[in-house]
Amino acid sequence: MRKFRLLIAPTLVSIIGLSLLLAGTAWADLPSSTPAAGETPGRLAAPMVAADGTYPPVTPTPTPTPTPTPTPPVGPVLYLTFDDGPNPTWTPRILEVLGRYNARATFFLIGSNIDAYPSVVAETLARGHSIGLHSYTHTDLTRLTRAGVNSELARAEAALARATGRTSTCARPPYGSVNSTVRDVIASRGLAMWLWNVDPRDWARPGVSAIVANVRSYAYPGAVVLFHDGGGDRSQTLAALEILLPEFAARGYAFAALPCLAP
Ligand SMILES: [Zn+2]
Repeated sequence: MRKFRLLIAPTLVSIIGLSLLLAGTAWADLPSSTPAAGETPGRLAAPMVAADGTYPPVTPTPTPTPTPTPTPPVGPVLYLTFDDGPNPTWTPRILEVLGRYNARATFFLIGSNIDAYPSVVAETLARGHSIGLHSYTHTDLTRLTRAGVNSELARAEAALARATGRTSTCARPPYGSVNSTVRDVIASRGLAMWLWNVDPRDWARPGVSAIVANVRSYAYPGAVVLFHDGGGDRSQTLAALEILLPEFAARGYAFAALPCLAP
């Protein structure tokens, strides 16, 4: 019996230790808050919320032409972002629910979709939302040459200009896939790169409750949250927004757009 106890004690210690290690790993893998200089938003230090409950200033990845920080609303804010649109079915429905809660968001658009559905982009702008670039063909930019990355961004910029006459100062590489070339080209075009801090994986359609639970658990004041309005059936995303928007609004949150549109 004594021997048995002696065995159990270290086993328990190991299990607890392993659990802590796994918990630590999971936490370390979580996206974070505002990036430090030279780093991408997404996978850094712990969220920073001041003792008085205010959120940190929004600072995109530094580029040669710094993007002005937005005037923050009073109280905590979430930056909701939607990738892979515009989509003629889902974008208008997402715009409608955002409008109902006076939420502003940022749409990272695929250039070829802009060319296909320019009126959806115009409507997005008319409703006060911000626009970022998400390449022209939604390819993994790290597989391209420098010229190829430049082309993907230039074509997306041209599509946005054709559709709206506007210029975006923000880029988000498809899949969040980044290397030094991608980083360099984005910076050299005067674009700020925005990844995200919270990813509920809505693109994989994990179920409305899973999307809601993820955002509920990981969102914090100042976080950039990743959703999708294109790339397939987005009914789960829409249903999750119907739950999350009133819930976070009741907690005092505002929903603001990133500063992506050149004047
Ligand atoms: Zn995408």
